[in-house]
Amino acid sequence: MSEYAAGKEVAILGLGTMGGGMAANLLKAGFPLTVYNRTAAKAQALVNGGARLAPTPADAARGASIVISMLADDHASREVWLGRNGALAAVAQGTILIESSTVSPAWIAELAEQAAQRDVEFLDAPVTGSRMQAATGQLSFLVGGSERALATATPVLQAMSKEILHMGPVGSGAKLKLINNFLCGVQIASLAEGLAWIERSGLDREKALAFLKTGAGGSPVIAAISARMVSQIYGVNFLLRLMAKDLRYAETEAARCDIELTTAETARKLFEVAVARGFGEEDMASVIEPLRNR
Ligand code: NAP
Repeated sequence: MSEYAAGKEVAILGLGTMGGGMAANLLKAGFPLTVYNRTAAKAQALVNGGARLAPTPADAARGASIVISMLADDHASREVWLGRNGALAAVAQGTILIESSTVSPAWIAELAEQAAQRDVEFLDAPVTGSRMQAATGQLSFLVGGSERALATATPVLQAMSKEILHMGPVGSGAKLKLINNFLCGVQIASLAEGLAWIERSGLDREKALAFLKTGAGGSPVIAAISARMVSQIYGVNFLLRLMAKDLRYAETEAARCDIELTTAETARKLFEVAVARGFGEEDMASVIEPLRNR
């Protein structure tokens, strides 16, 4: 264990696809770790590995130097930070709060304000990378907040990541994250339509995809997601309903800058159709299924 890790109590709130992997890497790096999850059973492997399971967010946050949350959306984040037995009321002065969920910049501003009223530092630090990168400590953090808070939090973030990009003041990370997922979501929606079209057109699917993936219209996300669409193996890397959420937040945030995200709206509708057809709890690649089975 490094000298730094020995002295820093870390709490992580939310042990889903991403939070579970992040917590495991914090344990591996030697940080004394407390975990909280609404569904406590998901903490078992971490507890076996040495984490302390807290019954409430407040209990997890009490005594921690750094509190990280990795939750579904604005609603979940509000519940865990400010709800009954919420974490914020329990943090001590000098604690650093890190919101890593993909949430709206409007909610980040509100949460940061609440943190300031308690005289604690706050960073928004959403991530790129998915289940695999969370499990292997290869995430990228997009950070908004003070240099000083980030410098203190850096060893903790490093245990979970390959890259830490400081974008500017609080909210900057959340904004860039929505732009990133806007670009991914629109590509995945277009890919769903393009691949469904290939399948109906009589073209050789493998040949067509091999060409498209490496052509001008190809991209890392097209390569990764087309493989899942073809295999129809939808074990969750990224829940489909979370992409609909990200596109909704992106549309709202862009509108604040007077930009109408017409392509995000079109893509979101495709994801929402898939949610309505029962694919919300599957991987986002299953967005193609309603197009295959009209
Ligand atoms: P997930 O597996 O669905 O986990 C969501 C977490 O939020 C779980 O711990 C869940 O608790 C908790 N939660 C949901 N609603 C809650 C509520 N009302 N009160 C308290 N806790 C609540 O999602 P994930 O894939 O880990 O994603 C977490 C965040 O990272 C999301 O904002 C997502 O958009 C973002 N993200 C995901 C990926 C990815 O590839 N998966 C990549 C980058 C960023 P339970 O276990 O009790 O349900």
